Amino acid sequence: MITTELSNVSKIIQNQRHFFQSGKTKDVTFRIEQLKILKQAIIEHEQAIVEALQADLHKPEVETYLTEISVIKEIDYVIKHLQNWTSPKKAAVSWDFFSYSAKIYSEPLGVVLIIGPWNYPFQLIISPLIGAIAAGNCAIIKPSEIASHTSHIITEIITKHFDPAYIAVVEGGVEASQKLLAEKFDHIFFTGGTAVGKIIMAAAAKYLTPVTLELGGKSPCIVDTDTNLEYTVRRITWGKFINAGQTCIAPDYLLVNAKIKKDLIDGLKKGLKEFYGDNPITSPDYARIISQKHFDRLVNFLKDGKVLIGGENQPSERYIAPTVIDNVSLEDSIMQEEIFGPILPVIEYTDITEAIALINSRPKPLALYLFSQNKNLQKRVLQETSSGGVCINDTVMQVGVSSLPFGGVGDSGIGNYHGKASFDTFSHKKSVLQNSFWLDLKWRYAPYAGKLPLIKKLLG
Ligand code: NAD
Repeated sequence: MITTELSNVSKIIQNQRHFFQSGKTKDVTFRIEQLKILKQAIIEHEQAIVEALQADLHKPEVETYLTEISVIKEIDYVIKHLQNWTSPKKAAVSWDFFSYSAKIYSEPLGVVLIIGPWNYPFQLIISPLIGAIAAGNCAIIKPSEIASHTSHIITEIITKHFDPAYIAVVEGGVEASQKLLAEKFDHIFFTGGTAVGKIIMAAAAKYLTPVTLELGGKSPCIVDTDTNLEYTVRRITWGKFINAGQTCIAPDYLLVNAKIKKDLIDGLKKGLKEFYGDNPITSPDYARIISQKHFDRLVNFLKDGKVLIGGENQPSERYIAPTVIDNVSLEDSIMQEEIFGPILPVIEYTDITEAIALINSRPKPLALYLFSQNKNLQKRVLQETSSGGVCINDTVMQVGVSSLPFGGVGDSGIGNYHGKASFDTFSHKKSVLQNSFWLDLKWRYAPYAGKLPLIKKLLG
């Protein structure tokens, strides 16, 4: 295993600047070749990736394929569209600009930094990297030290297949991040918590470096009476308990119409049994909590409210059973902090107005879920709330659609990515206006005497 010496950071950046200046990355064919190399490297290391995620999070193999290795689909999507995205786009000009033509060029930014979290530690580094490569940048990636096995396998893949002057990995924790953040980059792409996001933005401000911040928050899930309860239960159970709830867009809490609360809870009980059996600790399909610190934090939440389902835990395994909890107060820490674990509070409402008011009294979430077939209700929720994204009648699946920009708003983040949005995030849109020489009207030139009436007319 090769790890980068932190003292080398300045040198790596310097080498990447030289590489970028060579112009190599501006060639679209080169970018496509690199994306193909990345895809092949992931395929070759599939087994090692599965093992690393098993070691870090006890992540079931199916979940690793569905949510980590599936990032190769994004590579295919980008390769398919890249020639089109990179071609200059004609822009319209108004009649008074009749002798001009206008175009928008997408140009790479230069050397970019990508910092990742531990919960989907492979995908959340590789997916932005795909965008950085597609847009023609050099990149330094810093995986999360907390998912250490995955960090090592990423390092192995990248160092084996890429010149560090083009793509380099820096492993490590806060110290490594800070060392990197002391340097000047052309873009910083960060995925992690809101508190660290503020630190990243403050460091970036020093050099006026643009940032993309993919942060977290409490994503509500509204369940109305007009829904197919069987499917609703299954879709919520999956979205909440996949990766043991350690998903940035997992439903954080349920807002359920009081009329169907009992049926929903009964359904969840049945759904959990169907997914993980009578004793989820023995299920091969249920992940573990990443660290002791997070385990302790989550176990503390169990004191808030009344446990309806689950609640069992096993510190030696960092296991917390899929848990549904009732009677929480909005002031309890479980309703103040992002849960980011397998505990699901249920809050009832009698009128949708209450649910909307609760959501709007909180920082804007990364995702909002609504289970309802009622078109008017759907319209109301869409119009009256703000969130990074919305998924109606399902959970988490919005992240898998490459044509949908993925990102937060307000406290849940700045900017977005996936598909074309990733390409745009890592590109500068250079506006180019061109005049011709076949005439040169003098209305804008001095001397101005007598020209004001015409200018007023032009202004309409
Ligand atoms: P985190 O913010 O603790 O860490 C993220 C990265 O920042 C890691 O690489 C870490 O080494 C680095 N870091 C930590 N402290 C730092 C500091 N003081 N200075 C500089 N760098 C520092 O986040 P996490 O615990 O790894 O991930 C969980 C959070 O990430 C949750 O809030 C979750 O919602 C969010 N998240 C968001 C998305 C998204 O796409 N929006 C995806 C996954 C996770």
